[in-house]
Amino acid sequence: MTTSLPVSLRDIILASERISRRVRKTPIIRSDALSERVGTAVYLKLEHQQITGSFKLRGATNAVLSLKAEEKARGVVAASTGNHGRALAYAAKAAGSTATICMSRLVPENKVAEIRRLGANVRIIGRSQDDAQLEVDRLVQDDGLVAVPPFDDARVIAGQGSLGLEVFKDCPEAATVLVPLSGGGLASGVAAALKAINPDVRIIGLTMQRGAAMKASLEAGRPVEVQEEESFADSLGGGIGFHNQLTFSMCRDLLDDVVLLSEPEIAAGMRHAYCVEREVIEGAAAVGVAALLAGKIEITGPVVAILSGRNVDMEQHRSVINGATAPTRKDVA
Ligand SMILES: *Cc1c(COP(=O)(O)O)cnc(C)c1O
Repeated sequence: MTTSLPVSLRDIILASERISRRVRKTPIIRSDALSERVGTAVYLKLEHQQITGSFKLRGATNAVLSLKAEEKARGVVAASTGNHGRALAYAAKAAGSTATICMSRLVPENKVAEIRRLGANVRIIGRSQDDAQLEVDRLVQDDGLVAVPPFDDARVIAGQGSLGLEVFKDCPEAATVLVPLSGGGLASGVAAALKAINPDVRIIGLTMQRGAAMKASLEAGRPVEVQEEESFADSLGGGIGFHNQLTFSMCRDLLDDVVLLSEPEIAAGMRHAYCVEREVIEGAAAVGVAALLAGKIEITGPVVAILSGRNVDMEQHRSVINGATAPTRKDVA
């Protein structure tokens, strides 16, 4: 099975070596509270402690370091204002290249400033994410910049897979691994790594009920679009692309299940992470803990939950800690 995957264990091992001096090896800790609660060992992979605040630095760094010298000189481009944008800005600068991040005029100033601070050129254009993506296509066409997509890219998937190798190294006994799921780059990489080593490990994708594009696509048997809605897990928003090349089929072939979480459940996951584990994480990163707390995971042995990022608006975080069960303010992407 694994030999036919578009990203192999070998690709992931090579990516892991390529990026090893530029990304953090994040800790795995045992959660006594969650272990007691579910009756088996539960471990948390603290990937929110990664540089730039999310695992996306792994894929972005692997993509940038895979460029030929003349491609690196031309620079990379993407349309993300979130964790991928931050990661690509940082990775490009660290490798002596330049990132151009395209975003719409509606993106809040603090997000623009953050991407600039990380060393990227920011190009503000149009009024939507689609307009920003058109500008990316134009910069690739006219100026020869190299697009680095947020998930549907073999170099990015292999980079994210390095996280799976770390999970295996620190917790080889894991029977179930809980992975936050949006476009599926993280889940594809982690599942490809772990299932190549141990085909019996269960990999569960977790996402929010509101606008679960990969779940809807897997059910339809092809990429479909879903209505985007406000969620605490804003990093899990967005589609998987009508012309998805890699992550749709990899998630279809490798994931054992996809579990959906409500907003109150995600909020409870964030609260548990903060109040019990003493970790500040964003909603997207809380879905694994949320599913365990909600009793939505069948327990077959040691569990690892990946905490994928910490780039949460601190005002929203405070409101969740104080008991909010639904997002209030519109955090425009
Ligand atoms: C991007 C992201 C995800 C989802 O990753 P995909 O590869 O798109 O499935 C999960 N958590 C955080 C914090 C992210 O930034």
